[in-house]
Amino acid sequence: VTFQSMNLSRPLLKALANLGFEKPTPIQAAAIPVALLGKDVVGGAVTGSGKTAAFVIPILERLLFRDRGKAAATTRVVILCPTRELAVQCHAVATRIGSFTDVRFSLVVGGLSLKGQEAELRTRPDVVIATPGRLIDHLRNSPSFSLDMLDVLIMDEADRMLEEGFAAELGEIISACPKQRQTMLFSATMTDSVDELIRMGLNKPVRLFV
Ligand code: AMP
Repeated sequence: VTFQSMNLSRPLLKALANLGFEKPTPIQAAAIPVALLGKDVVGGAVTGSGKTAAFVIPILERLLFRDRGKAAATTRVVILCPTRELAVQCHAVATRIGSFTDVRFSLVVGGLSLKGQEAELRTRPDVVIATPGRLIDHLRNSPSFSLDMLDVLIMDEADRMLEEGFAAELGEIISACPKQRQTMLFSATMTDSVDELIRMGLNKPVRLFV
């Protein structure tokens, strides 16, 4: 498999070439075609497998064809990560893969000013990359921020998010999302609590273990 054979748009192929990504990793080869069909995905994948690009590429492909009308300007994608460091890394990879697109990314994590992030969220970034606790802060307290128009929810390193004690936050975030959406969950291990999260948040997911 090649990225070209996945029919990706030119701005993405150009960014992948610039990054030196010559061919998809196994999780990318498995997940990208399924995600491009709009299906829910469960991916068994560890850090280092290339899982970030496995979900970022299909999201960007979808956003390239989004409605750009002013009324449609709202957050379309949320990526949840267990820690600030992982969210920063994910944001860096996503920004690089999206560098030839007009998609706007925003990082929402603890340690950055709430006021500054609220101002950034008012500009309606297309993709919000967040830790669950900080995202909840904004859902509860930032009047202009909502997930009402969300298209895609990504839960990265779901097992670690549960270990960090975010089960209730994840439930609250899922409840704030539209029922009609695409959801992808990645996890290095499949525990009972990850299974429960999958049952709560995903709809007939395709399960990929590479
Ligand atoms: P991740 O598992 O998403 O944390 O990615 C691990 C590392 O692999 C990152 O430094 C990526 O830049 C790199 N990477 C991801 N996909 C590819 C690819 N298709 N070819 C080469 N490197 C990649």
